[in-house]
Amino acid sequence: MSKLFIDGENVPATGGGTIPVYSPVTGEAYAEIARGQSQDVDAAVRAARAAVNGDWGKKTATERGRVLVQIGSKVLENIDELAEIEARDTGKPIALARKDIEALARYFEFYGGAADKVHGEVIPYLAGYTVSVVREPCGVVGHIIPWNYPAQMLGRTIAPALAMGNASVVKPAEDACMTSLRFAEIANEAGLPAGALNIVTGYGKEAGAALAEHPDINLITFTGSPGVGVAIQTAAAANHVKCVLELGGKCPQVVFEDADLDKAIPVIVGAIIQNAGQTCSAGSRVLVQRTVFDQVVARLAARFSEVRVGLPETSPDCGPIITKAQFGRVNQFIAECKQSGLPVIAEGFMDSDLPEDGYYVKPVVFGPVPRNHKLALEEVFGPVLAVLPFDDEDDAVALANGTDYGLVASIWSENGGRQQRLAKRLEGGQVFINCYGAGGGVELPFGGIRKSGHGREKGLLALDEFSITKTVVSHHG
Ligand code: ADP
Repeated sequence: MSKLFIDGENVPATGGGTIPVYSPVTGEAYAEIARGQSQDVDAAVRAARAAVNGDWGKKTATERGRVLVQIGSKVLENIDELAEIEARDTGKPIALARKDIEALARYFEFYGGAADKVHGEVIPYLAGYTVSVVREPCGVVGHIIPWNYPAQMLGRTIAPALAMGNASVVKPAEDACMTSLRFAEIANEAGLPAGALNIVTGYGKEAGAALAEHPDINLITFTGSPGVGVAIQTAAAANHVKCVLELGGKCPQVVFEDADLDKAIPVIVGAIIQNAGQTCSAGSRVLVQRTVFDQVVARLAARFSEVRVGLPETSPDCGPIITKAQFGRVNQFIAECKQSGLPVIAEGFMDSDLPEDGYYVKPVVFGPVPRNHKLALEEVFGPVLAVLPFDDEDDAVALANGTDYGLVASIWSENGGRQQRLAKRLEGGQVFINCYGAGGGVELPFGGIRKSGHGREKGLLALDEFSITKTVVSHHG
C-alpha cells in the first residue's frame, strides 16, 4: 500500500484508511493508496511551514535553482520507471507517458535555471529616497491537481513554487497519484530538504477540502472542474487566500477556406484524441468556413476513421478513459448526442483484444452541430469532436468566443492579416496559428478567462503568481 509523503518520510494516514486504485486498462483494482484526511493535511502544512522557516527558506536563489536542476536530471535518469507508473495509473499510451515525464523534468530544468534570474526593481522617487521592489515567496502553497496529466501537472505547479522559495503541499487526484509519490522520493534524493514537498493522497472532499480551507496556506493552485474550482475559491476566501485556477475549456480550432488542409487535418484530429480527449486544452470544436465545410468534413472523416483505440503498450491513438465514473459520463454524453439526432461524421475503431472491463470509448466526430447544442457549449473531456460551420471572420469570432470558457484557440489560414486580426480577437490564454500546441511548451504562459479559470502558469510569468512583492522605501536624505 502506498503511503503519504510528509516531511521527507513515507507515513500512513493517521486514520488508517485506504482507497483502492483501479487500472483503466482492465478495470481491476491493482493497488491501494492512503486516505489522508484533515489531520494529515495539517501535519503536511506544518512540515511545509517549518521548511519555509528553515533550511529550504534559507537557501539562496542559486542554491534552490541547483536543487531543481538536479531534480530534473534525476527524473530523466528514472524516466523508464516513472513513465511505466504513469501509464499504468492513467491508461495513457506509454509514448505519451514518456513525454509527460520528460515535461516533468523540463519544468524543473526551466524553473531551476530561472530561480536566480528573478530580479526586483528600483523606482525613481522623491529626492532623498531609494525605493526597491523585491520579490518574496508566498510561503506555503497548496496544490490540488487532477488525474489527466498527473506528472506534468505536478511539475507545472510545484517547480515554479519551489523556485521562488515556497514549500508545497500537494493533493493529487485519488484516481492517479502514484507518480507523484515516487517523484517525491526522487526529489528528496536529489537534495530537496524534508518538508519542502509533501504529498497527501486522499479524496477531494476530505484531503482536498482540508487543504483548501487550511488557515496556514498562503496560496492555492487548482486544476480541475469548474464546480470544484468554486468550492476551492469559497474555502480559500474565508482565509483571504489567493487562488490560481485552471478549469478546462471548449477550445475552438478555426478553419478558413484558405487553410492548408494537408497540414491542418492531422493536427486538428490529434488535438482532440490526445490523451483520449481528457485534456483541458483539447481542441474540441472545429469551426469551418461554410465554403469549405463539405471538403473539411470529408477529410476529417477519412482521418478520424483511422483513429485506433488500444492497449497503452501498443502505441494506440487513444488509450482508455481514466475511471469508470468518467467512462460512464463520456458514454452518456455520446448517447445523448446520438439520441438528439446529431449526424455522426465518423468514428474511430477499437482493437479486438481489449479487456472487457477496461474503460474504452470509441472516438467520434459529430457535425454539423447546432450552435445551441450541448455539444457545442459543454466540455465532454473525452474523444468527442464537434464540427460547426461559420460564414466570415466576424461570425467565426462570435462563434469561437461564444462559450463560457476561454483557454486556447487555433487559427488555420494562410492569410497573414487574417491570422493577426483573429489572434487579437479570439479570447483565451493562448492562440495558435497554423499549429496546436495544446499541453506542450513549458516556456509558454498558459491559463484561462471566465470559466476556464484565472492566473497564469508556465513560462516566466508563473513566477509572479508564486511570489509576492514588497516595496522597500528608504529615506536617507
Ligand atoms: P474530475 O471531476 O475531473 O475528477 P475534479 O475537479 O473533481 O475533477 O478533481 C480535481 C482535483 O480536485 C482532484 O485532486 C480531486 O480530488 C480534487 N477535489 C475534488 N473535490 C474537491 C473539493 N470539494 N475540495 C478540494 N478538492 C477537491
